[in-house]
Amino acid sequence: MSTILKGIAASNGIAIAKAYRLVEPDLSFSKKTIEDTDGEIARFRAAMDAAKSELEVIRERAGSELGADKAAIFDAHLLVLNDPELIAPIEDNVKNNKLNAESALKETTDMFITMFEQMDNEYMRERAADIRDVTKRVLSHLLGVKIPNPSMISEEVIIVAEDLTPSDTAQLNRDFVKGFTTNIGGRTSHSAIMARSLEIPAVVGTKTATEDIQNGDLIIVDGLNGEVHINPTPEIVDQYKKEHERYETQKAEWAKLVNEKTVSKDGQHVELGGNIGTPNDLKGVLANGGEAIGLYRTEFLYMGRDQLPTEDEQFESYKAVLEGMNGKPVVVRTLDIGGDKKLPYLNLPEEMNPFLGFRAIRLCLEEQDMFRTQLRALLRASVYGNLKIMFPMISTINEFRQAKQILLDEKEKLVNSGTSVSDNIELGIMVEIPSTAVMADQFAKEVDFFSIGTNDLIQYTMAADRMNERVSYLYQPYNPAILRLVKMVIDASHKEGKWTGMCGEMAGDELAIPILLGLGLDEFSMSASSILKARAQIKNLSKAEMEKLAEQVLQLQTTEEVLEVVKKATL
Ligand code: PEP
Ligand code: MG
Repeated sequence: MSTILKGIAASNGIAIAKAYRLVEPDLSFSKKTIEDTDGEIARFRAAMDAAKSELEVIRERAGSELGADKAAIFDAHLLVLNDPELIAPIEDNVKNNKLNAESALKETTDMFITMFEQMDNEYMRERAADIRDVTKRVLSHLLGVKIPNPSMISEEVIIVAEDLTPSDTAQLNRDFVKGFTTNIGGRTSHSAIMARSLEIPAVVGTKTATEDIQNGDLIIVDGLNGEVHINPTPEIVDQYKKEHERYETQKAEWAKLVNEKTVSKDGQHVELGGNIGTPNDLKGVLANGGEAIGLYRTEFLYMGRDQLPTEDEQFESYKAVLEGMNGKPVVVRTLDIGGDKKLPYLNLPEEMNPFLGFRAIRLCLEEQDMFRTQLRALLRASVYGNLKIMFPMISTINEFRQAKQILLDEKEKLVNSGTSVSDNIELGIMVEIPSTAVMADQFAKEVDFFSIGTNDLIQYTMAADRMNERVSYLYQPYNPAILRLVKMVIDASHKEGKWTGMCGEMAGDELAIPILLGLGLDEFSMSASSILKARAQIKNLSKAEMEKLAEQVLQLQTTEEVLEVVKKATL
């Protein structure tokens, strides 16, 4: 029977494929007494052999696709599987205590894990993690349960998961992963943002996708309307194939604007930039006619690995992006870790409210070695293009001054050592905390530009966690409270002859764009896949009319009223 799940449209487009569940498998079992211990040992050895063959294939694939360092993880797992000091006690446990293989395996490996975890030696603690992973794999073979492994996918699928971390999302293979759907998350959770930059249709926050969808079910992810169809009828599949074609035709129309500037009907130019997470994302921005990089989220360089990137590694990435943009502006945001973006190797304590916690610039001002390394890499790269640097999560003027001073120190040291550094690096801040929006007139005297981060600005203004789908109704970009803050920031910058951009998701929102144009926003930065649609829209809007529209909506009381007025005026 066909079922429809409602969720949040997180990334445009339509995908139709079989479901692939990326969920923790159920590896529960009960302890049993076994009479045929030889038979049980044979069963255990067969599971070990199956786990070894599986790991060898995974290692091969990881080596060729992800590089030698990722493959080394699986070498370590294979070493564990071949270690007689671990295997003999498990088999003895079956034989002497007549235990079933699952219990003998778990009891013995638990003992080793506890022992290694207590050692005062990082190498041995890592071995505990290897033993835990290997135990899971052997158990899955004993129980006949499949452990999902997205890097092994070799046919077109739609991923179904409770949630996807940004690093899970980064590892999805675009050739096979046609879409995804999750139980939790909102439009601005980072897995949703990454889905947009990978141009993978996605619906998040369905609450029950992992309960309702089985492996192999035929799924339609409708990332335009936020719906997921489970085992749809052939008529519905046909209907969606047509919808998909319509969307592709529309995209081809927008694609004609790829080499044009973004100019309103009455001649006002605004800059349309793209948001990127890695140098690889640059291709998408260029293919979609981006006039700038308005946000380079450098934290992705730090994620999905087990130690900090070196200064040279960072330098190479920044240089690649600056050169790739060929003199067009590149706004690089310094490390914004925290919230839903974690760096396990920093060993930071868990926090009750990670979005309000020790993150981004707060962490960088404390962990200065890490911060200075990034700044040096940026300064060295600055001579390869048009670099602008911005600091994330600034809440006070003092934070900005401290960060700026550290940057100036590093610049002076580099220049004194004979390294060339550009003299034209603009220095700005993200405005994503209400205190900063309110004080924008003061900030505007000291910064070169603002970039409004509405994903966080909305969450902090409305006190609504951006990851929590139960309060997602409070994620209200069109609420006059948000629009008034945006206006304050833009006006304050213009008064000091500075410029304001927006790199939160609101900048690419079709219903927000008319208001933002009217409020005088200078630069709009969005997912690459939204750029051409936004350009087509702005070409049909008159700046003068949008100024009047903006004035009008600022005086309204609710989101709904604002939406009604905007739709009437522009659609
Ligand atoms: C924002 O907060 O709007 C923003 C662009 O930053 P991020 O989504 O990475 O927090
Ligand atoms: Mg933010």
